[in-house]
Amino acid sequence: MHIHLADIMNREGETLQLQTELEWKSFPVQSDSFSILAKTPLVLSVVNTGDKVLELKGAGRVTVAIPCDRCLEEVAVEIPLDIFRRVDMKLSKEERIRNLDESSYITGTDLDVDQFVYDEVLMQWPVKVLCSKTCKGICSRCGQNLNHGDCGCEKESLDPRMAAVRDIFSKFKEV
Ligand SMILES: [Zn+2]
Ligand SMILES: [Zn+2]
Repeated sequence: MHIHLADIMNREGETLQLQTELEWKSFPVQSDSFSILAKTPLVLSVVNTGDKVLELKGAGRVTVAIPCDRCLEEVAVEIPLDIFRRVDMKLSKEERIRNLDESSYITGTDLDVDQFVYDEVLMQWPVKVLCSKTCKGICSRCGQNLNHGDCGCEKESLDPRMAAVRDIFSKFKEV
């Protein structure tokens, strides 16, 4: 969705307000793609504060399916959007990018709403995702999700002395 800012740019002190749907079905991050489970319309306001400076505000919410760090099952993670940016339209795109290192969402006088929100979702992206605080993760041997029950694999001993004893026993068994 692109919004033309040319009109509001010529009307100092005025506010443009609208609601728009985000277009994504999934959210790409690097080489991964995450399903979007739910999203609210984005409530966007653009204020011309004078001197060709625009204040952009966006509010909404997206819910993304992100795998649990331990067991890899998808978790519905709600990402609130509460965006505020001040953009000096007197500057060229190159100058803005140099000053703010993120204004790729404006080309000429067009606001690319999805790109505007994309940057914010990335900033709000959770560092760690767990399906629950007590998630048991997956078995390192067979890969079973241990939240669904014990797989019966022998537990790895972390004590090297115990491992040595076990080796001796298995040698005896072979004889
Ligand atoms: Zn988990
Ligand atoms: Zn196992």
